[in-house]
Amino acid sequence: MFRLDGRIVLVTGGSRGIGRACCEAFGEQGATVVVNYVKNGETARAVADAIVAKGGKADVEGFDVADSSAVNAGVDALVKRHGKIDVLIANAGIVKDSLLWRLKDAEFEDLWATNVRGAIACARAASKSMMRGRWGRMVFVSSVVGEMGNAGQTAYAATKAALIGAARSIAREYASRNVTSNVVAPGFIDTDMTVAFTAEQREEMLQGVPLARTGSAAEVAAACLYLASDEAAYVTGHVLRVNGGMHM
Ligand code: NAP
Repeated sequence: MFRLDGRIVLVTGGSRGIGRACCEAFGEQGATVVVNYVKNGETARAVADAIVAKGGKADVEGFDVADSSAVNAGVDALVKRHGKIDVLIANAGIVKDSLLWRLKDAEFEDLWATNVRGAIACARAASKSMMRGRWGRMVFVSSVVGEMGNAGQTAYAATKAALIGAARSIAREYASRNVTSNVVAPGFIDTDMTVAFTAEQREEMLQGVPLARTGSAAEVAAACLYLASDEAAYVTGHVLRVNGGMHM
């Protein structure tokens, strides 16, 4: 189950964390994985090399998702190399925490540009090939805070909530082309993004998690893999929570 042989998969922000785990999971299921990054080209190349070393197929395409022209050029280039794109994992994201009264416009704009405009620009660029192929899977990586909110994360949570509206609109718009569009909403996952939490912050956070532990990037990748599979053909516009019960 969940094999993706012959599928071309673009994972934005595939160089680290959840994106990297997605690249590894998709590589193991027979897909050709295109690892996107913005700064860490060497790390992205190492992710691709590790997939190839295990007998899989992988490639690297660096571009800044916040730059629409770069997105279009990057997606065009990978479609030229591989002939198509079947699956988009819109995972690239940044976090900037701030209490509302301290929130700077520039911080909000950065978050919006990467987390929302970036994901939508990638979807728009990838949709052309998916429509031509009459098969496609889009998975947007949101967050538990997009649904439940979090003090100090007004702008970040707003961007993650926006992805749910975007994914559901795309789900309605592209269903007739056999393209599904879903959301994965992770909880507290151990990656570079959460490494800065102090022991006290972790402890406090975990008090709200019935499963009483952090999640792994691999556990989020498994949800993305399911939504990208043939087995999930009848699932669209769904928000799949991977949060240990933090929000139900
Ligand atoms: P991470 O470890 O910080 O990795 C972020 C990835 O995104 C990196 O590959 C980075 O590339 C890439 N990236 C950042 N800005 C980009 C841009 N403008 N264009 C292209 N790539 C860009 O983050 P993570 O924890 O794996 O998070 C992945 C996603 O899950 C994010 O959308 C995040 O909001 C969401 N999420 C995470 C958690 C969590 O607890 N970790 C919880 C809920 C949701 P470089 O390596 O080149 O910098």
